[in-house]
Formats: sequence, structure tokens, C-alpha cells
Amino acid sequence: MSRSLLISGGAGFIGGNFVHYWCARYPADVVIVLDALTYAGNLATLRTLIDGGRVHFAHGDINDLPLVEALLREHHVDTVVHCAAETHVDRSITDPSAFVRTNVLGTQALLEACRRVWFEHGAWRAGARFHHVSTDEVYGSLDVGDPPFSETTRVAPNSPYAASKASADHFVRAYAHTYGMTASISHASNNYGPYHFPEKLIPLAIVNALQGKRIPVYGDGQQIRDWMYVEDHCAAIDLILHGPHESITYNVGGRAEHRNLSIVHHLCALLDERFAHDAALATRFTKCPAARGIDCASLIAFVDDRPGHDRRYAVDPSRIAARLGFEPRETLASGLARTVDWFLANDAWWQR
Ligand code: NAD
Repeated sequence: MSRSLLISGGAGFIGGNFVHYWCARYPADVVIVLDALTYAGNLATLRTLIDGGRVHFAHGDINDLPLVEALLREHHVDTVVHCAAETHVDRSITDPSAFVRTNVLGTQALLEACRRVWFEHGAWRAGARFHHVSTDEVYGSLDVGDPPFSETTRVAPNSPYAASKASADHFVRAYAHTYGMTASISHASNNYGPYHFPEKLIPLAIVNALQGKRIPVYGDGQQIRDWMYVEDHCAAIDLILHGPHESITYNVGGRAEHRNLSIVHHLCALLDERFAHDAALATRFTKCPAARGIDCASLIAFVDDRPGHDRRYAVDPSRIAARLGFEPRETLASGLARTVDWFLANDAWWQR
């Protein structure tokens, strides 16, 4: 049976990848993207799908209740995949209020629109579902040797970003419990891959190296993150949406814990290797040290650590593995190689 999906934040990194993933696999489904196009949104990510009539794009804010209600009704939406958010921890430290507005109030507005439309005839519309794309950062920080976060780990957000996402999760849970909505949540670990805005570690390291700019690494670079290729995350959401119709939480991770500094060295080595084997790259990216045979790692610069920087995140994905058969397909090595190759091939996207 075909579906009608509304993907909030679909011009962003994960939302954009999810839109491509879904359109490729489910050609009969209707796909609507609602995005405010903040600094993190890029319509170029969806250009071919919008121009080809495959995706309907609505430029707007998730806080705009009448707009969201109208979209839900007009397109008979039965599935909301909620990706829209303010997502950069550093920005949440300088301006937490934007995170409350979008992540907390915006999530509640989206839930409220779904409640109004999907209970319109007195009972929950059969098959309808709200899915919140959340983060492992709601659980706080781990010490080396601690077991990874499970779905029953106490929520203990440390940054304003994590606090706003935890708050959004609470509203999702409360709407499911109070009104009987079907609303699921996935807590994902650090994603990376195509269409990633170059303010996060991996795209920033690649783009800065290609432009011959320093690659900033916070503190000692020994922070540990659990890395997941974004397509694996999309596949996990797909399994959830096609899984049992229930309000449930899943942790989703790549089973790939690595230190930030080693990720940056890995990326630099990949770039060095690509330039060594493809002379044309030196003519396209003349400022990259690899164009002159110099290691990209020479650009690494340690900078003051972020206040309250969490030391380690890691999620235990055994619930989604056992119930839905999820396993990440990409290893860190294969995922980083695909990512580097995508940024090399798509400089028009990131040089906008
Ligand atoms: P992103 O910053 O790349 O994209 C966010 C998108 O939301 C942008 O297109 C932006 O324009 C849009 N947006 C922001 N405010 C909006 C508003 N008020 N109304 C409508 N659209 C708005 O984010 P991302 O990295 O793709 O993250 C997507 C979701 O996944 C977020 O909820 C984030 O918390 C979660 N998440 C991200 C990661 C990660 O590693 N990137 C990991 C776990 C969870």
C-alpha cells in the first residue's frame, strides 16, 4: 500500500538523504518536504527531485500550525518523519533560544497538527505514524569502559542542543501516551555522508583540507563518537516505519566507536591517497596541500575545547537489531571513502 510522507527538515543533511533514499525505493509514495531553509538547509540537495515533480517542496516553519495542518490534509499525509531541528551544539551554546523554538516548540506544533488531523473523525487514522529523529546526545556522556547507551539509560542531556532534543522526545512520548497517537523515536549516533553541511567534524575536515584551510580539532581530539553512515540511518528509519505499528524507541548506531582525531587523520590519509592517484584533482583543488604532495594532516590545528564537551557517546543498537533485523552495512572505512568521494565529486554543492 502506498503512503504519503511529510518529511520535516528534508533539505538538511539526514532529511535530504532520507528523501533520496525513500524516493529511490518507494516510487509510488507521495513525498512532501517541509523546510524553513535555515543556514543548514540547501535546496540543491533536492533540486532534481523537485524539478522532476517527484517531491513537493513547502517552504515554511514547523511552528506554523495552519500551514502544517493544510499540508497534512491536502496531501493525505499518513507518515511524518520529523528531522527539522537546530542541530549544531556550538550554536546551542551561543543561542539556546533558537533550539527551544524549533526543537521543543516546533516539535510540539508538529505533533499538535498531526493530532488535529489524524483524530479528525473521532479515532486515530489507521496506519498513521509520527516518527521523531532524535539523538544519542540526550543520554549525556559516557566514560571509557561504560556500557553503551540503551533505550532504558537515564536521560541526562548536557548541552542546550541535547536538552532541547530530550524535551522534544518527552512531548512525542506524552502525545503517544495521552492521546493514543502512534509515535516512535530513534536515537541515532553521529551520522556522516553526502549533503552534510560543512560545520560538523567530517565535512568540515574534508572541505577545509580541499580549500587549504586549517582543520580545527577541539581540545585533545580524544572525544569518542559512534559513527554511522547516513544511508544506514535511513535504512533503520525505513525498518521502523515498516515495522509493527507501535509507539516505541530505538537506539540506532554504527557499532563504530572512534576518536575524533583518528577520524580526521583517516580523512586526511584518504584525500592524500586520492590526489596521489588522480592528477586532475590537483588542478581542481589547487589550494589543497595534497595538490603539492604535502600531507593534508599538516592542516590539523588543535583549538580550545567546547565548554562542557561530552567525552564519549556510544549506543547499543541491539533492540532494533533483534526486533527489526537492523545491521549497519557500511564500515567506517567504506563509509568514509564514499563520503570523501562524494565531496570530491560534488564541490558545486558545498561551494554554493
Ligand atoms: P541539519 O542541521 O543538517 O538540517 C536541519 C534541517 O531542518 C535544515 O534543512 C533546516 O533548514 C531545517 N529547519 C530548521 N529549523 C526549521 C524549522 N523551524 N522549520 C522547518 N525546518 C527547519 O540537521 P541533520 O544533521 O540532518 O539532523 C536531522 C535530525 O537528526 C535532527 O533532529 C537531529 O537532532 C537528528 N540527529 C542528527 C545526527 C547527526 O549526526 N547529524 C545524529 C543524530 C540525530
